[in-house]
Amino acid sequence: MLADTLARQGYQVVEFGKETDLLVLNTCSVTENAEKDCRYAVRKTLRHSPHAFVAVTGCYAQTGATQLQKVPGIDLIVGTQFKMNLPDYLPSPANLRKQPEPELRHSRTIDREDFVLPGTAYSDSTRALLKIQDGCDFMCSFCLIPFARGRERSRTADDVLREARELAAHGYRELVLTGVNIGRYSHGGLGLLELLRELEAIPDVTRIRISSIEPTTVPTSLLEHMAASTKLCHYLHLPLQSGDDGILKAMNRRYDIQEYEELVEQARALMPDLGLGTDLMVGFPGEDEQAFANTVRTAERLPFSYFHVFSYSSRPGTAALRLEDRIQPAVIRQRSRTLAELSRAKTLTFYQQQIGRTVSVLFEQGERDGFRTGTTANFTRVAVAVESVSAGAMHDVTVTGIMDGLAYGHLVTPPDTRSYRPLL
Ligand code: SF4
Repeated sequence: MLADTLARQGYQVVEFGKETDLLVLNTCSVTENAEKDCRYAVRKTLRHSPHAFVAVTGCYAQTGATQLQKVPGIDLIVGTQFKMNLPDYLPSPANLRKQPEPELRHSRTIDREDFVLPGTAYSDSTRALLKIQDGCDFMCSFCLIPFARGRERSRTADDVLREARELAAHGYRELVLTGVNIGRYSHGGLGLLELLRELEAIPDVTRIRISSIEPTTVPTSLLEHMAASTKLCHYLHLPLQSGDDGILKAMNRRYDIQEYEELVEQARALMPDLGLGTDLMVGFPGEDEQAFANTVRTAERLPFSYFHVFSYSSRPGTAALRLEDRIQPAVIRQRSRTLAELSRAKTLTFYQQQIGRTVSVLFEQGERDGFRTGTTANFTRVAVAVESVSAGAMHDVTVTGIMDGLAYGHLVTPPDTRSYRPLL
């Protein structure tokens, strides 16, 4: 969205890593490594573009402004409260010059009011991200996000629908709803389910996908709606974090394993083709061998199609910082590897289950070794011969096999070489 605003002000957006006059860095602070990556991106850009004006915003700009002020080469630091106004703080393109020290636009507190966003977040994919919510009140003990993003608040429904219509009019076939804790969406009497109904009523919106959603915010009514809907993807990413009740409690997560499993069982009973992803954290303080074994067993047992594995990172100001029984980095690395291997095996099993099925695939830009790939509603990546299909097209494909982490197959409907999404 910032890129769109800047482009409308006359900037030309260049590919990251190419010479530039301006770097706008939207930072992450979820782990120490993410912060390190941000500092590295500043150094790397200044190496090929020493004159570039560097503006840093995002979560790290909110939680680590003092630290960022000491990083050489940064000209502007914009905290969460003022993030979407960043273009207003830039000098005109003709006056972009490095500053003797960074200007700081930052406030400790962040508004709790529901919000609107300026413009439209175009992407170079056939899928568009549609932000509906920000902030979180859950206070998991390892998590810095409530401090970086503030209390939970929702984007006004009118503004969500306005952007959705614009994206659909620009040819985006799939909208991915994003936010920090989207299950808590609430504006003007609409919850997530009601918002979904409004979005599905937009004729040009073909598919809607819910991104990561907290397990305790998924009611039966949402699952039933997902099962019956022709537009809402049969896909859930439900962060589990640990398969051990003691660790979940120490993490201040709001469910135990039994509750999580019941939710998954219910979802699968309604949608046997469900694509189910999760996040798992390794190395949380106190995660002994038994606790980790419980996580492995739970991850094996549940019908996940993939998981993202994160290493615990101690974050300033979080409750977990005070916990003892730290886990050795070498043990954390080994546990990460174990879970990553398990995730690959689960993905393979999930993909094998797709063989013989006819699935609807939304194809994307680009090609790989003569194949064009796209995704199904349950997030299986499917490849077909590139000449048979255009980017942005949606087709029924019969899956005949798997290779290199992809399913492949042939079109059921005739080849289609039309051009879909207008190039921006
Ligand atoms: S629900 Fe997610 S964003 Fe909120 S505190 Fe927990 S981990 Fe962080």
